[in-house]
Amino acid sequence: MKNLCAVFLCLTAVTLLSARADEEKQMFPGGQLRALWCAPPSETDEAAGMAKIDEMLNRVVSGGFNALFLWGTSNYLWAVTEGGDELKEAPTAHYDPFGKLIEKGKQRGVAVHLWYSPWIYKSAERSIEMRRHPEWSAVDIEGKIDYDGICLNRPEIRQFELDLLTKVIRRYPDLAGIHIEEPGYNWGEYCYCDRCRAIFQSLTGIEVGEDKTAVLEQIRNINAAMSTDFMIRLRAVMKEENPNLLLSTNGCAGANSDWKLGRDWTSWSMRGYIDFYVPQIYTKDIEAFKQAAVKTKQRLGDCVMVPGFAISWSGIYPERLSKETLEGLVAAALQADGKGYVVFHYDHFEPIHFETFDEIRRNNNP
Ligand SMILES: [Zn+2]
Repeated sequence: MKNLCAVFLCLTAVTLLSARADEEKQMFPGGQLRALWCAPPSETDEAAGMAKIDEMLNRVVSGGFNALFLWGTSNYLWAVTEGGDELKEAPTAHYDPFGKLIEKGKQRGVAVHLWYSPWIYKSAERSIEMRRHPEWSAVDIEGKIDYDGICLNRPEIRQFELDLLTKVIRRYPDLAGIHIEEPGYNWGEYCYCDRCRAIFQSLTGIEVGEDKTAVLEQIRNINAAMSTDFMIRLRAVMKEENPNLLLSTNGCAGANSDWKLGRDWTSWSMRGYIDFYVPQIYTKDIEAFKQAAVKTKQRLGDCVMVPGFAISWSGIYPERLSKETLEGLVAAALQADGKGYVVFHYDHFEPIHFETFDEIRRNNNP
């Protein structure tokens, strides 16, 4: 009887594991995401932009990548979804290279996820929010206005972002997912705008006085709660509009030191609000990368992890990582139960790197 029970438990475990493997297989073609962070072409001439798209996809496919996290600014997304006079808000919107990359990518086996930042990277030159509503800026603990970040603690601003993303989802039925860039506020202590002070007082009965450090922890908790509200509602919209869409975010690795900015990825993964998480682990040290990836996976529970690394980043640019290091990082990502890898950034690739990555892919997918 005991043996029968053991066999039954084993079979159940095997069934559950294979069901989970099937689920992951469906999440990414072939069960592995091999993505690049990149931006759409900036050419304003359509013929030149279309030639660039073909060149980009040729390179991406030659590197064995099967996905792009494609940067979309809010002024661009606003322009293409509103159309008409609003097209002037973005210089390339008239031929929609973002949409063309989704279409052409699909034909080439490259899934395109929108890479989008609702909170930050909101300078007026790329954000419709700052152009139309400069009063939406976040304010830090010193009272300094953030001209690159908006206050998503305000319900109407969260709604603006949700409405914009809903229109994007409807415009691009072949979009594969939405990848939220560094959710939450800029580094520092946010948000102390007049509206956040009023929200805080109505929730707690406490007035934010001169000594703002007295309410630091509560303000951080409000950031996390409001961000979580945004992610829950974004997920609901996505699954309602197109159940195939995948919601992911990126952020730190290991212990979640980002939660106070509103980047509460551990809660979102444990509660099933995101489909996968991408820790950004930018280092040359393969062992350090592996440790960070393993610790991140521990924090994620059952949520899928796809580790991110950089071929070059601001700290080492123009240096690029060596072939041996790139091989080591991919191996470490997979050993840490990563379901692939995401590489920063397409623009840092030299032609040789696409060959290198395709060789790495072949070696890891015999
Ligand atoms: Zn605020």
